[in-house]
Amino acid sequence: MFSFSQLRLYQQCPRKFAFKYVWNVLPAQDEVSLAWLEGNLLHSALCWLYKQVQSYNIPTQEALLSWFNHYRQEECSEKNHIDGDDPFIVQAYHNCEKILSDFYQEYYPFDQEMVIALEKNLFLHLDSFIIQAKPDKITKRGDTFVLYDYKTNQKLSSEEEQFHREQLLLYALAVQENYGKYFSHLECCLQYLRLDKEIRFEVTADDLEEISQKYLTLCQEIEKEKEENSESEDCFPVKQGNFCRFCEFASFCRAGKTLQSSSSQIFPEQYATWYTESKNKIKGLEEEKELLKQQILEIAKENDFACVYGNSVQITLWRRKKIHIENEEKMGSFLEQKGILEECLSLNEKEVKNFIETNPDFRSFLEIKESKVLRVKGG
Ligand code: SF4
Repeated sequence: MFSFSQLRLYQQCPRKFAFKYVWNVLPAQDEVSLAWLEGNLLHSALCWLYKQVQSYNIPTQEALLSWFNHYRQEECSEKNHIDGDDPFIVQAYHNCEKILSDFYQEYYPFDQEMVIALEKNLFLHLDSFIIQAKPDKITKRGDTFVLYDYKTNQKLSSEEEQFHREQLLLYALAVQENYGKYFSHLECCLQYLRLDKEIRFEVTADDLEEISQKYLTLCQEIEKEKEENSESEDCFPVKQGNFCRFCEFASFCRAGKTLQSSSSQIFPEQYATWYTESKNKIKGLEEEKELLKQQILEIAKENDFACVYGNSVQITLWRRKKIHIENEEKMGSFLEQKGILEECLSLNEKEVKNFIETNPDFRSFLEIKESKVLRVKGG
């Protein structure tokens, strides 16, 4: 029996497939990736949501988020080797909460189609081979069955989109085998949750014929390789690519080792990932800093403090006036009419403040906002 992810892995690199599913090699590292974690959390939350919908018990958005928070606390425990306080993991939760809230608001009250099955295991028979299919959701609209698969990609290449389409077409074959008599038309929908994108397509008899032929040939090819099952370079051949850098079997594979030993060769994707992760971390810290600032201001206001002391640190509260010009064009003409435009252009901040004090007419062009600033000494 094969799953689609096994068949996909074989197409990506037959050698990696063999390490994982034929030779049962234990990978060098088996860390939970953020992408996997987010995917798992989102799939579980949406499955829960539609189970409620299926039993005519539509939850509120708050109930969905509360279920999500409870579930992620259970998942991200020591038992599963996930540190729930890690800033990257915390950021992943926030991403999921945002995606779930957007999804809820877009599809509420979830009555567009009738839910038939959720994450149901279906079996497709291709000749003597069995392929396991597990669409995230099957719904019914009139005499059409719709198959859904949620994806959590941050970006989408055309090659990846093609794989996703093939996956759903293969699942469509399984749905036809299991539920064929209940519908006249079949439709597929890929929902890219992070990209806010949906790809829908109708399934034709030609599509099903083509996909069935392609995957039957693939299963036969794998079976032939399994029968030969040797470690020669020809059996389960290596297929090198950018993905080798992240392959958990690289230390067992000559192609992977070569890539890992050339330390200068870091793929641009890695830099992009590091950059995005750092950016998200900084954003999280900025939010935390703002929250702490508000708390300090509140404490100071309640107790009428001008200063707050910490461990070898002194925080002083300042009120600062921020001047914002509402209409630069109008103000320019006004100054020009008065013949003082040149003079004003060379004023420094202090002189501008004095100028405003002594020229009340000028104030109508300005918006003066007061902001509170914290000045830190020591620390
Ligand atoms: S390192 Fe590359 S070539 Fe080797 S098994 Fe992994 S993906 Fe295949």
